[in-house]
Amino acid sequence: MFQDLASGWEGERWGHRFDEPSGAHLFVAIHSTVLGPGMGGTRLKVYDTPEDGFADALRLSEAMSYKQAAAHLPYGGGKAVIAASQIPEPGSPERRELFLRHGEFIDSFGGAYVTAADMNTGPEDMDVVAERTAHVLGRTPANGGSGDPGHGTAIGVFHGIRAAAARALGSEDLTGRSVLIQGVGSVGGRLAHHLHGAGAELILADIEPARADVLAYELDARTVPAAGALATTCDILSPCATGGVLSAETIGTLACRVVAGAANNQLASPADGDRITQAGILYAPDYVINAGGVIHLAGYETLGWDEATMAARLAGIGVTLTQIFERAEAQGITTARAAEDMARAMIAAGA
Ligand code: NAD
Repeated sequence: MFQDLASGWEGERWGHRFDEPSGAHLFVAIHSTVLGPGMGGTRLKVYDTPEDGFADALRLSEAMSYKQAAAHLPYGGGKAVIAASQIPEPGSPERRELFLRHGEFIDSFGGAYVTAADMNTGPEDMDVVAERTAHVLGRTPANGGSGDPGHGTAIGVFHGIRAAAARALGSEDLTGRSVLIQGVGSVGGRLAHHLHGAGAELILADIEPARADVLAYELDARTVPAAGALATTCDILSPCATGGVLSAETIGTLACRVVAGAANNQLASPADGDRITQAGILYAPDYVINAGGVIHLAGYETLGWDEATMAARLAGIGVTLTQIFERAEAQGITTARAAEDMARAMIAAGA
C-alpha cells in the first residue's frame, strides 16, 4: 500500500520500518541526491493513518530538495517521519529507545539521508540519534552540534523581508514599515528583534498571548489576538507559526502588500500561489526565505564556515529572492512557480 502512494512521487528512494516496541511507523524519503545527500529533519507526529505520515514524508522531501538547491548547499532533499500513536515525553526512556532505533534506521541508508530536528523533535533527540549514526545534524552544542538553527532562520527571514520590501514597497529600508509577525517563538521572537533594530513598527500575535505581550513590552510593539490576526492591516505579514495559512479562505482577507515569513508550507494548495499573486500581494516562497536553518546547520557543522561566511550566506537569501521576484515578473508567473523552476534548473544542472 505504501508502494501505491509512492508511485506518483518523483523521488529516488524511500524506506519504511514498523517500530514494534512503540507501535510507530518510521519513514525515510530521499527525494534527490543529485546535489548531495538528502538532508531534512525528522518530523514526529500523530497522524490519522500511517499512510498520512508517509505522504507527508514524500511531499516534504521534495520541498527539501528545492530548499537545499535554492540555498546553494551541497545537499539534496530528504525527510523522515515518525508516525507515532502518541508523542513520547521528552527525556523519557521510551523516547530515548525510539530515537535510538530511528538512528539505526537512518544509518541503514548509508549516508544517502542526513537527518536533523523538525516538528516535535529537538537537539536532545538528535544527540540520541547520533549514538547510532553519524548522519545527523543539529545536536546540542555540548555534543558537538550547532544548537538551535532558529537563529540562522530568523536572520535569513530578515534579509528576505528587506528584499521583498525593496520589490513591493520601493525600498528595503524598513523604518516605519508595519510588520505583523504571526507566532513569536524561536524564529518569530528573534525576527522581532532584528526588525525592531531596523526601525519597523511591529504587530505581534501568538496563540500564547503572554509570549507576544512580553515581547511587545520589550520592543515597544502592539499585539493583536491570534484569531483573525492575518486580516490586520500592515505592510508586511510574516507567518512564523504554522503551515497552510495562505488559503482560499484567508487570502481574500489579507490586508498587506507582502507575505514573507518562516513558516513551512504556507500555501495550503498550489492554487493559492496564483490566488495570492492575483490579490496583488508579493509572496516570498517559504522554502527560500526560511532556508537559514539548513544554512546554519550545514555551514557550521559540515562546511566549516566562519562567522563572516555565515553572515554572507544568510544575506544571500535576499539576493536569491530578488532573482525569483525578477524572474516571476519577467515571465508573468507566480513567485512560487519561479522559485520551483529555479530550484529544478539548479538540480538539473548539477546532475
Ligand atoms: P516555535 O514552536 O518555536 O514557535 C511557534 C510560535 O507560534 C509559538 O510561540 C506558538 O505559540 C505560536 N503559534 C502557533 N500557532 C499559532 C497561531 N495559529 N497563531 C499565532 N501563533 C501561533 O517554532 P519555530 O521554530 O519558531 O518555527 C516557526 C515556523 O517556522 C514553523 O512553521 C517551522 O516549521 C518554520 N521553520 C522553522 C525553522 C527553525 O529554524 N526553527 C526553520 C525553517 C522553518
